[in-house]
Order: sequence, then C-alpha cells, then structure tokens
Amino acid sequence: AGCFPQHMLFTLPLVEAFWKRRPPQPLPATDEPVGQSAMLLIVLSIVACCCVPALLARLRGAGGAARLIDGKAIAAAIRREVKQHSEALIASHKVTPGLAVVLVGARTDSATYVKMKKKAAAEVGFHSIDKTFAESVTEEALLQCVQELNSDPSVHGILVQLPLPKHIDEAKVLESIRVEKDADGFSSENVGNMCLRGGKPPLAVPCTPAGCIELLQRSGVAVRGKECVVVGRSNIVGMPVAHMLQSMDGTVTVCHSKTAGLPAHVRRADIVVAAIGAAEFVKGDWIKPGAVVIDVGMNTKPADTAKGFRLCGDVDFDAASRRASAITPVPGGVGPMTIAMLLKNTLNLARHAAGLPRLPLRAE
Ligand code: NAP
Repeated sequence: AGCFPQHMLFTLPLVEAFWKRRPPQPLPATDEPVGQSAMLLIVLSIVACCCVPALLARLRGAGGAARLIDGKAIAAAIRREVKQHSEALIASHKVTPGLAVVLVGARTDSATYVKMKKKAAAEVGFHSIDKTFAESVTEEALLQCVQELNSDPSVHGILVQLPLPKHIDEAKVLESIRVEKDADGFSSENVGNMCLRGGKPPLAVPCTPAGCIELLQRSGVAVRGKECVVVGRSNIVGMPVAHMLQSMDGTVTVCHSKTAGLPAHVRRADIVVAAIGAAEFVKGDWIKPGAVVIDVGMNTKPADTAKGFRLCGDVDFDAASRRASAITPVPGGVGPMTIAMLLKNTLNLARHAAGLPRLPLRAE
C-alpha cells in the first residue's frame, strides 16, 4: 500500500449517477389528433438536441466557465479546524503548539512572509517565537540557534525563512532541524517517508504541495486513475506534489525545462499542476476540455494598476478557464493554502510531541 494516502488521506467517495433504463412503455390511448402529437415530438426533439449537449459540456466544463477553486475559503476552513484542534490539545494535554520562525537579513519579501506566518500562528492560538538575525550572521551562530530551538520543549515547529545569505550553507541549516520539529516537511527523513511505499508516515509534509492536495480533495476532485501532469520538479513544489498524486493512485508525468513536446503532455492531463515560475506559460489550448488546473505560480505582469503590475500564475487563466472544469485563481488559489498547511504541520508536530496521532491531510 502507498504510504501517503493510506496513512493520511481520506479519499472522497465518488458519487456516480446512473440513468435507470426503463423498459419501453406502451403509448397511452389518446383522442389527440396525430399531427399535434408529432408536432410536440418534433419540438421536444429540437429542445433536446439544443440543450443536452450544452448541458453536458457545461457539466464537463468544456466550452464554458470553469468552477473556481477558492483557496481563500478552503484555507480559512483549515485554519478554523487547526484552531479548534489546538484548543482541544491545550485543554486535554496542556500543550500549546509553538512555532519558531528564524529570519535572517532584511529582504522585504522574507520579512513580509514571516510577519504573515506569525500573525496566522497567533490567530489560531499558537505560541510563537521570533529569532531575527542580521545579514552578516555566521553559519555557526545560526546553527547554535537551531540547536537551542531543537531542545526547547515549548517549540514544536521550526521554520527557517529561505533564502539564506550566500555565505550560509542552507542545506546544512535545514538538516540541523530535528525531524520532530520540521515544520516545513523538507527534511530528508520526512520526504523519504512520503515517497516510500509502505514507509512510516511523515511527521510533516511540504506545505504548498499539501495545500494543492487539500484543494483537490475539498473540491471533490478524485485523483485515482487520472492522468496528472506536474510541470516543474523543484524540491519544494513539483517533486513532492508529484509523489503525493502518485500515492493517491494518479498516473503522474513530471515535466521540466528539458521536457520535449511539453504541450502534448499537458493536453493529456485530467489534472494539471503548474509550478514553473513563468507568467502564463501554460496556454489555454494546452488544457484538455474538462481538466482540473492547479496553478502554483506566483508571478507579476505589467498592468495598468497603481503599482504598474498585477499578480498572475503560471497558467493563462482566462483562456484555460474556458476549457477547464475547475481552476485555481492567482491570487486566491494555492497561495493562501501554504500558511494554512504550515499551521496544520505545526499542530501535528505538537500532537506528536503529546503522543497523539497526526491529523489526516483531509479533515473529515
Ligand atoms: P523553481 O525551484 O524555480 O522550479 C521551477 C521548475 O519549473 C523547475 O523544475 C524547472 O525545470 C521548471 N521549468 C522552468 N522553466 C521551464 C520551462 N520553460 N518548461 C518546463 N519547465 C520549466 O520554482 P518553485 O520554487 O517550484 O516555484 C514555482 C512557482 O511556484 C513560482 O512561481 C513560485 O513563486 C511559486 N510558488 C508559490 C508558492 C505559494 O505559496 N503559492 C509556494 C512556492 C512556490 P528544471 O528542473 O529543469 O530547471
């Protein structure tokens, strides 16, 4: 059995409707003139011919507007669940989940992400610890800080905001985080357990990919047996999301910058996950009618706005949403899920510290 879904996912039951075949019914006796019945039959046939294909196309999403997968609403629901579980953990075990965030340097984007993560942690009742260092901090000092957090029992999750300055070995710092406190789910042990069939369940899973899976599951999208195409193979998005989809019995193709004939791969996909980092790279006519599109990209493109740009994904949203059955917007799709999943990881690490099992990726 694949380790990931069996341990952590509850696959949504598929609801399949079948038309019941009825035996032919005898025509009722009628006084109606034959011409009138024939006319009625013709009108009904025309209505059926016009409406049924349009209705089916709409149900499949082909040729119509795709259903929006609302990441904001789904992330808000996850945060509410995390808050409830956190309160229950405090009440039952006197354990308040603690998240330590380590920030190095003065990058404004990193400072903004850290601020958002701390705010979100406070909102769900977590205890949060800040460790801020100047750009010039030594690798030794940073490793020392991680060691202290590793042995602090009030800290359940440690997050080192990336990127780190060039003079610091990022991998070495990340590896120094104890697996029991790996809030990002990036440690080789957690990633290894996620990939192994029949392995131990990971203690935490990479946040953005886990967010993509929650979006699919909470939108009722079944993965089993589906053609899934992931564009991008980074350690933080493409690779883990591909493994997660495979462990959910999807048939997964991973595309990257050296892939030949990329559009043809995407055209086969029932589920497309785009994690490339190139504005509107995936074109609308690459999307199979009725496919589900998860757009992880976070890019900007010039626009007539006060800032002179607007956010966009890796998929040409307008064109793709005319063919897809469901699609995530940018912003408001995958973006809000990442922090929600960080909170869920931290809660699960606190539960683990208290001897409780982790919550499945999909909350029932
Ligand atoms: P990354 O590390 O730069 O990886 C990009 C991947 O895309 C690589 O595997 C690369 O292939 C592939 N790629 C690049 N150009 C390509 C092309 N022309 N054709 C096919 N594949 C191509 O990026 P990342 O960290 O995974 O992030 C991807 C996107 O997701 C970015 O826009 C990022 O901002 C966004 N993101 C969003 C969130 C969120 O919370 N919403 C979180 C993380 C990332 P190679 O491996 O061959 O180089």
